[in-house]
Amino acid sequence: MPTRQIPKEQDRVLTRNELADSHCHLDIFTDLSAVRESIGRGVLTIITDGVDMRSNARALEIADNVNIFPALGVDPEHVPGMQDRELDFNVDMIRQNSRRIVAIGEIGLDFMLAKSEKERDMQRVVFGRMLDLANELDLPVSVHARDSMDAVIPILRRKRVKRVHLHFFSGSGSHVDEVVKLGYMISIPPVPSAARRVAIERVPLQQIMAETDCPIVGKTPYDVERSVRIIAETKGIKYEEACKAIVENTKRFFAIEGKVNKRKSPLIRQ
Ligand SMILES: [Zn+2]
Repeated sequence: MPTRQIPKEQDRVLTRNELADSHCHLDIFTDLSAVRESIGRGVLTIITDGVDMRSNARALEIADNVNIFPALGVDPEHVPGMQDRELDFNVDMIRQNSRRIVAIGEIGLDFMLAKSEKERDMQRVVFGRMLDLANELDLPVSVHARDSMDAVIPILRRKRVKRVHLHFFSGSGSHVDEVVKLGYMISIPPVPSAARRVAIERVPLQQIMAETDCPIVGKTPYDVERSVRIIAETKGIKYEEACKAIVENTKRFFAIEGKVNKRKSPLIRQ
């Protein structure tokens, strides 16, 4: 009778599932050891999103373009009080780094934050400028849409933005139908919700990614494991199968292959 083998540490590492976090904010971490640990546990592709001048600069600093890839943008939360000069500076920073960055993000509209039409218009102006830039530079966009999906989708359509990622997806059934039809990607955070369950059921697996939005929602990029479990359970597929599809989707959507710096050593050696 064969004796039961206890897997060696090395085997366990080799059989771990590769993961990808399509949206987080590594610039907020004061200590990157938790990020290194996540990479060591298999989160080999991480997209870190900038939201204003300082966080964009920090995203560029942290990104090694081996495991961590930068997305730069101006998010709606940072629109109030942003001077034209600062907005121009961000636009220049995006242009100068367009070959290194994988997307323009985080950008979008947040109507929970902006109550007045004046504030919403200011957000629309910045969002529009970021979308024009994405078209000019042929980059995908990572979009934040809180209480604003009805405004966001028509703008994306009007601007003819092709590669769209709706992060922390929270749309209704009719939004889900549009997402499917337009071929947009959605990403699922490690927080279950009834509306998102409907979205996961109806959006084809090829249009789904996983995210942590860490450290705001998830604690570390490894929390993407919980997002993938939510996707796997809702789709009724194996966790391993969901991991594989989500990594493929993330690499394809952000065209990671063309953005890898082959000469740079990774933040952590595998
Ligand atoms: Zn975010």
